[in-house]
Amino acid sequence: MWNAADRTGKAAPVLIVGSVALDTVETPLGREENALGGAAVYASVAASLFAPVNLVGVVGADFPREHLSFLTARGIDLRGLQVVEGRTFRWSGSYDYDLNQAHTRSTELNVFEDFHPRLPDTYRDAGFVFLANIDPDLQLEVLAQVRSPRLVVCDTMNFWIEGKPNQLREVIRRADIVFMNDAEARQFCGTFSLPRAARELMALGPTAVIIKKGEHGALLFTRASHFSAPSYPMEQVVDPTGAGDTFAGGFVGYVAGTGDISEGSLRKATVYGSVVASLNIEDFSINRLRRLTPEDVSRRYAEFKSIAFFEAMESA
Ligand code: AMP
Repeated sequence: MWNAADRTGKAAPVLIVGSVALDTVETPLGREENALGGAAVYASVAASLFAPVNLVGVVGADFPREHLSFLTARGIDLRGLQVVEGRTFRWSGSYDYDLNQAHTRSTELNVFEDFHPRLPDTYRDAGFVFLANIDPDLQLEVLAQVRSPRLVVCDTMNFWIEGKPNQLREVIRRADIVFMNDAEARQFCGTFSLPRAARELMALGPTAVIIKKGEHGALLFTRASHFSAPSYPMEQVVDPTGAGDTFAGGFVGYVAGTGDISEGSLRKATVYGSVVASLNIEDFSINRLRRLTPEDVSRRYAEFKSIAFFEAMESA
């Protein structure tokens, strides 16, 4: 039975770099202004359910102190989070009834424009590294400071696929597992076929690729196999922001928590990622994750298992 306290107690920490943001989001069910967000925040909060987290990023002097206290209370180490003069990164977006598609209204890099990650020495021995969505140049700067990681996982988005494709290719070359959503994989590889896109991404170096398909589940490709995690039948999505980041955070947190990088473990991690992502979108910002219990996670995991169950074919 899954238990957050058991896991985080003996688990290896995960190093996470990515955006730490104040998001303004509008969905068919409401609007939130300057809410806690950012890829690294969603991923860290999700990963902290399974393993301790070391967070690398930057915020401005305007970043509310209560957010820092909340993250610390979740077992997230903030010695790698720089607090500098200036405004925190801000993203604003909206969704219509196709909740798979975020419409970006504005992206203000602000303090990220002059940011260079400086890893505290204790972070440099990280075994598990998650390069969440941020400028690929910064993802590479983090990798340059890590000594010999066991597993490097990376994520990105169309903003960087279009803006910095060569740097992103270099990040992918150096990663063990790549996350992309279906549209990003098609765009980056210039193909309609997701299995072909996964194969092309693995040809660059990674041993596994995860393609997220929003409300249609997720695919895990390795060189030898293909696993399909089901989607959860959500009747009401309040705010899809951070679904991809919580998915990846849950995935990496689970793998670091168990220390097991076998194929079977990666499959379970894909389901844990789906579990946390499906819970996260039940409320704005990280509000659902704030009140998440181990029982919520276990219950949803069991539901995923039963959704995907089917009998063997009868013999002729
Ligand atoms: P997701 O819904 O999982 O794709 O991630 C949404 C989060 O990504 C939001 O909290 C944003 O603050 C963050 N975000 C949006 N655009 C960018 C960007 N260009 N670089 C880094 N993070 C971003």
